[in-house]
Amino acid sequence: MLSFSSHEEIITNRKELFERTKWTDATSHLQNRVKGEDLSKYFLLTDSEKIGIRDTIRLNVSSTPYYLSLSDPFDPDCPIRRMIVPNSSETVLSPEESPDPLHEERLSPVRGLTHMYPNRVLLFSNHSCSVYCRHCMRGRKVSASSERMSKEELEVAIDYIRKTESIEDVVISGGDPLNLSDTRIDWILGELESIPHVKICRLGTRNPVTLPFRINQALCEIIEKHNTDRLSIFCNTQFNHPKECTPDAKHAILALLKAGVSVGNQAVLLKGINDDPETMLVLHKKLLEMRVRAYYLYDPELIPGSRGFRTPLGKGIEIIRYMRGKIAGMGIPQFVNDLPGGGGKITLSPDWYLGYEKSTRKHAFVSAVTGKIHYSFEPEGSEEFVYKEFQEDMGGMD
Ligand code: SF4
Repeated sequence: MLSFSSHEEIITNRKELFERTKWTDATSHLQNRVKGEDLSKYFLLTDSEKIGIRDTIRLNVSSTPYYLSLSDPFDPDCPIRRMIVPNSSETVLSPEESPDPLHEERLSPVRGLTHMYPNRVLLFSNHSCSVYCRHCMRGRKVSASSERMSKEELEVAIDYIRKTESIEDVVISGGDPLNLSDTRIDWILGELESIPHVKICRLGTRNPVTLPFRINQALCEIIEKHNTDRLSIFCNTQFNHPKECTPDAKHAILALLKAGVSVGNQAVLLKGINDDPETMLVLHKKLLEMRVRAYYLYDPELIPGSRGFRTPLGKGIEIIRYMRGKIAGMGIPQFVNDLPGGGGKITLSPDWYLGYEKSTRKHAFVSAVTGKIHYSFEPEGSEEFVYKEFQEDMGGMD
């Protein structure tokens, strides 16, 4: 049974939580995580949220004090709160949803490893995270203790990588690999570094967003030690809203950059959180100020209980159209759909290309800046290329 806290009690409870947490100590934040029904002490919950917390069909509920401190206790539409607190839409399984829409398990040669692309694998290193994001696409595994990867299981996965010479690039994800101990991270990176055909390692982590204090000196020294001529380490993180771009988050990003790690952002398009072109533009401007380059904007997966987050596909294309011309290209993400059924990623973008007029060898484009039609000319002798035809009268335009 959920308890009820008054307005004043919530303010007091938050103050006590923040005071008892050693603010720059990641371990203290993990020890003081707010879980499940305890959210009622820190938020004035709506009826929908009470149902969501009680009956969610998705992953566990948990937040660090740091991430909770970014949320509004009294506004159910607060974007940070929406990523922490489930609501009743998380209790409904829609017919088109499935726990593993990308077929990661079917494409798994050994436990914890997905081998979809010939030269790349995904290593599921860890089931736990600092915050359990309500929109997590791997909610079937994340937060479930049965999905913990033992050292022996990780050894089997690494042995597969070692024996499969086509693998050049290993994405370490989860759960969050940076929620593993320093010792375990050191060991995994050392193993990958020792495999001659593995050249690239990508760490998928949301800790710069949800627990930036985890990116501490000891961790950065380990990462830097393995970021060598043999192995190039990248980090992909997931900022979804400008409120997440705090000075602490920037500090964490700068520490990763100092360790030689390039940081990219993989936002998720989330209804009511960031499905607004101006919000997305501001987010990516702030990210560039933090020296984070845009990488992907994901269309949400068809995972159980996700109806509250999913937007029409056209929304993502509209956002990219809006951003073009208003921010440097390195701040514009690729809008991607990871195709259900294990089809891999495809990119979707506004159609700036209008077509080709063969008689004049003219290509027509619409400009994101002027909104007008502009032309470019095909070199002579390139007749083997077939283009879509431009139907309109192309004369007399800029
Ligand atoms: S940090 Fe990543 S893996 Fe963990 S719950 Fe959030 S989205 Fe899922």
